[in-house]
Amino acid sequence: MNYESLPPFANEAYRDFSEPIHRAAMEAALAQARTELGREYDLWIDGRPEKGGPYKLKSYNPSRPAELIGVHQKASAEQANRAIEAAHTYFPTWNAVPPIERVKLLFQAVAILKRRKSEFNAWMVLEAGKSWAEAEADTAEAIDFCDYYARQMLRLATPGPLVQMPGEAGHLVYLGLGVGVIIPPWNFPLAILVGMTVAALVTGNTVVIKPSSETPTIAAKFIEVLQEAGFPPRSYTFLPGAGSEIGDLIVTHPKTRFISFTGSKEVGLRINELAAKTQPGQRWIKRVIAEMGGKDAIIVDREVPDIDAAAAGVISSAFGFQGQKCSACSRVIVDESIYDRFVAKLKPLAEAFPQGPVISASAEKTILNYIEIGKQEGRLITGGAKSTEEGHVIPPTIIADIEATDRIFQEEIFGPVLAVTKARDFDHALQLANDSEYGLTGAVYTSNEEKLEQARRDFFVGNLYLNRKCTGAMVGAHPFGGFNMSGTDSKAGGPDYLLQFLQAKSIAEKQL
Ligand code: NAD
Repeated sequence: MNYESLPPFANEAYRDFSEPIHRAAMEAALAQARTELGREYDLWIDGRPEKGGPYKLKSYNPSRPAELIGVHQKASAEQANRAIEAAHTYFPTWNAVPPIERVKLLFQAVAILKRRKSEFNAWMVLEAGKSWAEAEADTAEAIDFCDYYARQMLRLATPGPLVQMPGEAGHLVYLGLGVGVIIPPWNFPLAILVGMTVAALVTGNTVVIKPSSETPTIAAKFIEVLQEAGFPPRSYTFLPGAGSEIGDLIVTHPKTRFISFTGSKEVGLRINELAAKTQPGQRWIKRVIAEMGGKDAIIVDREVPDIDAAAAGVISSAFGFQGQKCSACSRVIVDESIYDRFVAKLKPLAEAFPQGPVISASAEKTILNYIEIGKQEGRLITGGAKSTEEGHVIPPTIIADIEATDRIFQEEIFGPVLAVTKARDFDHALQLANDSEYGLTGAVYTSNEEKLEQARRDFFVGNLYLNRKCTGAMVGAHPFGGFNMSGTDSKAGGPDYLLQFLQAKSIAEKQL
């Protein structure tokens, strides 16, 4: 097997659940998952299962808050310490495994995830409150990450030739770094967890996975995939626990070599700061790969090619998975000449948009609080209060006439709340879009080529979309990661991503 001999990478297709065969598969998977609700899962440390202390971590269904999904251990400080030490001890063995063998295991994981697709979807419906379609996209992305990174590792296993000095043979090899601490968020509970984990593993690192406390069951199910695929039991660790109890410990541990984090700006910056401090006995500068929040803007210009398509794109970007995507559109910046007409188009689309729950009671509280702030700052168009439905449901909320200095223009809300702002012209719209500490995604709707060119040049985001929505990045097609306080621009799902998990060694041999 080599990189060139494989068929080209193709994204995993989404199933259409209006087709009876696919609907039946999902219904069966949900019924099966329901038989396992409330099951207890173990930690996985140094190749063996372990229990934690008497206090357990419990996850619940955001659509039915009383429904217990999974019971998980809370790793103690002693267990977290031991986990890092054990991963460090096993690292040289795993790093010495030829890349092609690691790649084969990852292709095994692809096959298993494809087979268990409906099952993973079902757990995401139950534990994260995803719709079937959103869950399908999440599982497909997880499959794509595995498939794509397996191929990229094959490519890196035989780096291109170097300039050869006379009388010398020179080459370059890529080595793993060491123990990677993997800290994913709950909003793509499978895709992001899987992407960060397998990127680290396939490059020869051992991983200590601390899942999000909102979605530990999905993570535990993925540990089963690693097991089934044949990854050595000591190459990965499953370490649920309270961020406040073991978070700092695993980040600051002197044997931790890197931290791969996706989550909020606050936690990411704390990790970055803690990781920068050299600990006694530490022999390297830790790397931090951090992907953080967003306050993503879509510009709708007066020369919008199709105002209805733009309104639909904004609504889907703002309210898909209840706005709980780092890429979600939370600001729409509209040219004054079409402002009223555009706002009028948004309202019915938002009201017809399918509703779902936000992740937790505490998220609900934060979002409702921002909605109250927004009502003071602007003009409520639709939504604005909790739904009477069961679960943490907040309907799509739109607040117009928001200024750049308003809090709901600047702060990440991470829920179904869209701020609408008026721009004098395109220059002003771009200036407003860039008036943010974040820089993750952005989009522009215009038919004017000069304005598109201006956006290509001046819209300061890691992922720019022209005449389309700003969510739905596809592995391989839209390498993903943000500028400024949105993170280290790691470009997940892109050709450069794996380099962050590797160190290159240059070897030059004098010919005798
Ligand atoms: P979060 O920052 O609250 O938590 C992320 C992870 O960090 C979780 O696993 C959590 O348990 C852990 N954690 C919390 N405190 C910790 C500590 N002190 N030490 C170590 N770990 C700790 O974020 P979240 O609520 O899970 O996710 C939502 C956030 O993630 C949003 O800000 C969103 O924009 C961002 N996000 C970004 C991207 C991206 O690619 N840029 C993708 C998805 C989500």
